[in-house]
Amino acid sequence: MSIAERLAEVREEIRAAALAAGRDPEKVRLVAVSKTRPASDVIDAFRAGQVIFGENYVQELRAKAPEVDEPVEWHFIGHLQSNKVRQIAGLVSMIHSVDRLSLAEEVSRQWGRLSLSCDVLVQVNISGEITKSGTTAEDALQLVRDIAKLPNLRIRGLMTMPPFFDDPEASRPYFAGLRHLAELIGSKDIPGVEMKELSMGMSGDFAAAIGEGATLVRVGTAIFGERG
Ligand SMILES: *Cc1c(COP(=O)(O)O)cnc(C)c1O
Repeated sequence: MSIAERLAEVREEIRAAALAAGRDPEKVRLVAVSKTRPASDVIDAFRAGQVIFGENYVQELRAKAPEVDEPVEWHFIGHLQSNKVRQIAGLVSMIHSVDRLSLAEEVSRQWGRLSLSCDVLVQVNISGEITKSGTTAEDALQLVRDIAKLPNLRIRGLMTMPPFFDDPEASRPYFAGLRHLAELIGSKDIPGVEMKELSMGMSGDFAAAIGEGATLVRVGTAIFGERG
């Protein structure tokens, strides 16, 4: 199958999952995860109507972005080291993986140098697995409060990666947990903080994530095929 055909299938599944959950399909945005894929795959997907692309590695994104002339929107979704933030300042429109204050401070500083503002999501390790990045659910509210005081970034919501399960339904409690946490944080009315975005769900479980309120699904393999 071509990238265009796979994209069409994923879009259809997103639509079906949203409708099944009584949600407006327009409220779910697809982030095509293009890590390890060549620029030509990004261009193919763009020609098939895909606009947002998610990348995990600073070096790779820096190399790929100039090869894509099309007006795509890059999101950074991977673990981010503070000393690399400068290299993606102004290049990405959203960072899904802000999980500590020191990183947020550097994002604020680097976007500030460009007189720009970056949309960020706070990554939460909702399962508490030690191998996963993200702040804990217990610390998330305080982290949001601290980040909210910084200029040049806006908190738009939360992101999570649940543990891997063969059965996508097994991820559901973690997706629901992220939604509940966003509702709790949203109820505090912290100035400058929006809890509108929930970035959750990947190739294997995006339908379940949409059922639990995902507004951004990050899908790689189902669009581009297995990574080598
Ligand atoms: C690689 C990756 C994805 C996409 O995973 P697939 O299973 O290929 O859809 C989503 N989110 C993050 C953070 C990733 O690193």
